Order: sequence, then structure tokens, then C-alpha cells
Amino acid sequence: ESTPAVQTVTVLGATGSIGKSTLDVLARHPERYRVHALTASTSSASLREQCLIHRPAVAVLTDEREAAWLREELRTAGLSTEVQAGATALVEVSEAPEVDVVMAAIVGAAGLLPTLAAVRAGKRVLLANKEALVMSGALFMQEVVRHDAVLLPIDSEHNAIYQCLPSDRRDGLAGMGVTQLLLTASGGPFRGWNAARLGAVTPEQACAHPNWSMGRKISVDSATLMNKGLELIEACWLFDARPDQIEVVVHPQSVIHSMAAYSDGSVIAQLGNPDMRTPIAFGLAWPDRIAAGVERLDLFRVARLDFEPADETAFPCLRLARDAMLAGGTAPAVLNAANEVAVAAFLERRLGFTGISEVVEAVLERCEVRTADELDVILAEDARARRVAEHYLARG
Ligand code: NAD
Ligand code: MG
Repeated sequence: ESTPAVQTVTVLGATGSIGKSTLDVLARHPERYRVHALTASTSSASLREQCLIHRPAVAVLTDEREAAWLREELRTAGLSTEVQAGATALVEVSEAPEVDVVMAAIVGAAGLLPTLAAVRAGKRVLLANKEALVMSGALFMQEVVRHDAVLLPIDSEHNAIYQCLPSDRRDGLAGMGVTQLLLTASGGPFRGWNAARLGAVTPEQACAHPNWSMGRKISVDSATLMNKGLELIEACWLFDARPDQIEVVVHPQSVIHSMAAYSDGSVIAQLGNPDMRTPIAFGLAWPDRIAAGVERLDLFRVARLDFEPADETAFPCLRLARDAMLAGGTAPAVLNAANEVAVAAFLERRLGFTGISEVVEAVLERCEVRTADELDVILAEDARARRVAEHYLARG
């Protein structure tokens, strides 16, 4: 039995829900992994705690004043960790030559540049930051191939599908005999609710997900079903699928994480307890398997599995996302940017829950679709969509 070489890991978004789960898995395997860099936006206190435990070479915060505080704290604690600030530092720790693996777990468009930097440096990229791929799909996948990066999906549904596909061939769905990808959805906390009831939903209700504990932005996305819409777009790019090859299946128990249907009638599913440490451990160790600290699924306790179609009338975000993917070009980037603005406004109580899809739809109508083969165009359209969304919100 050979011991694998130690892998050096950068965790972008270390203080978030995915970041914490990643550090939990890494800590179980100190002989396999070493942390190069940990990054966060403003959570300097939790980044300090993580640095004391994982002793990274570099720590990055968004703000220079927070970074100065952390620098002093870590020096006092006797650590040699270099503390940096700003977006350039995020790119540097993603492409640094000593790094083998980058966990892309920043939330939203802010993660695009460092994630793309990791791809362009040919790293093993563990993709949790679905917004980065939604914004720049064609370009992103082209760079993966060009720079020989290894892209492994961490989003539980996509990780499940990856596990349900043959490991020795990745030549398009048809080539693998796959007819459809079945993307499971919990349905979120408001499954079965009608538009009238949804109008009164508060941020607290939206952030209390029945099966998964996640960051606030993705929790709201799960409640509006925009998360499933972003995931539909993500699946199209990752698996080279058309939107009509992806069927959303509401499965409230969140035990089946997604499925692949084959031409011979086989449907292959990946099951497990809803715990992100499973896909994270899969991505870290692939093609090996390592312990993730996740209990084996107890099927007798699960007892039953339910399935129903998604309600696209009460939850229009799923339809808006599918239409944006069909429109192509910059439409998914516009959808994503409008959604980020709308979700932030909802969390700040400037917008009602059902207003989120209204903002996204209005912004999509107002932004012309452009070809999305250049990063500058994508970033400009992202900025434009944010301005249009803010303008729409300001008019009330
Ligand atoms: P989170 O809000 O808990 O954490 C986000 C992390 O990103 C934090 O470390 C934060 O400091 C950092 N960050 C936020 N804004 C930043 C900015 N502008 N610049 C630099 N860093 C910034 O989010 P999360 O739930 O961990 O989700 C992270 C990503 O993973 C999202 O794209 C989400 O869609 C995806 N994802 C999450 C889950 C889950 O279970 N939480 C599941 C699937 C996919
Ligand atoms: Mg998911």
C-alpha cells in the first residue's frame, strides 16, 4: 500500500458553511492534506480561529484594516502566516505554484476571478461556487480543457451525477448512453405553498432550510427554487447537457442527491445523509475514497422516498433560469447578478419574497443578450444587471 503524496489546499471562503465542512474533512486526514491558504471576506475572528488550528502559509481578508488586525493577532500567537488583503491576493493564493487543490467556496460572483485563476493554473478545482460557472459557463469549461484542470463538482446534486456516470469515459451524455439527468430538489421550506402565502415570507423563515444548513444566500435561493435553476445551468455546463435533458424531481427527504437515466432503462442514483462533507471528501480524494465523518445512511430510519414535480407557477425562478440558459450568451450572468441584488434586498427587508423573481424577470427583459466568450463582457453585463436591478428596486 503506497501513501499518497501530501496535497496542498487553498480554501476560498473558509469561514462559510462549505469552508468549515472542508476544514473538518481536511483535519481528519493530516497525513494527506496541508493547508496553503484560508480566505474570508470580513469574518476575521473566525478566520483567526481557523488559522490557529490549520496554520496556513497565507490568510486573506477583503479589507486591509481587518487584515492588519489579524496580522497582529497571528504574530502574537507565534504564527508565521502571511496575512494579505484584497481581490488580487485571492487570485494569488488560487494560482500559487505550491497549491494542488483549490476549494472554490466563496458565495456569488465575487468567486469568479479566483476560481478562474485556479482553473487557468491547472489545479484540481473543487467547485462549490456555482455562480462562477453560471456566469461564465462556456469560457469556464473551455479554460478547464485548455489548462488541463481537474474540475470536480461539490454541489451535492452534481457530485451525485458525477458519481452516477461511468468513470472511464466523459464523452458527452449520448456517448455514455445517458438520456436524462434527474436533478433532485428538496423543494425548500415553502414546498406546497401558494403565491399568496409566499408574499408574507420573512428572511428568518427563508433561511431555515428543512434538510441542509447553509449560508444565507443559498438558503434564500433554495426557498425560491432559484438554487435549482442555477443548478440546472450548472449541470448543462458540467455534463454538456441541454436544458431539456435535465428533469427536476422534488424529493423532500433529500436522501437521493440526484440520478442519471440510461437508454437501457437503468436509473442510477447516489444516496447518502444530507451532509456536504460527503461530496467534499469525494472531491478531495477522487479517485480514492476517504472518511468524511458522515454516518452511513440508515435506510430503515428513512423508511420512504417521495417524489413530485416542481411547482413553477408558485416558484417562477426555476423557469427564469431555464429560459436564461436557452437564451444563452450573457443571459445566465444577468440572471445571476439580478438574483444576487434581489436576495440581498430581501435579506435587508427592502423587498418581499415574491419580489425576488419579479426583479430577476424585469432585469432579464431589460438587458439585451450578448455573446459571452470574453470575461470583460461578462463582468460588464454583470455590473449592468446590478445597476438595472437597483434602479428597479429604487422605483419600488
Ligand atoms: P457562506 O455564506 O456560508 O460562506 C461564504 C464564504 O465566502 C465566507 O467565507 C465568506 O467570508 C466568503 N465571501 C463572501 N463574500 C465574499 C467576497 N465578496 N469576497 C471574498 N470572500 C467572500 O456560503 P456557503 O453556504 O458556504 O456557500 C458557498 C458557495 O457554495 C455558494 O456558491 C453556494 O451556492 C455553494 N454551495 C453551498 C452549499 C451548502 O451546503 N452551503 C451546497 C452547495 C453549494
Ligand atoms: Mg445543491
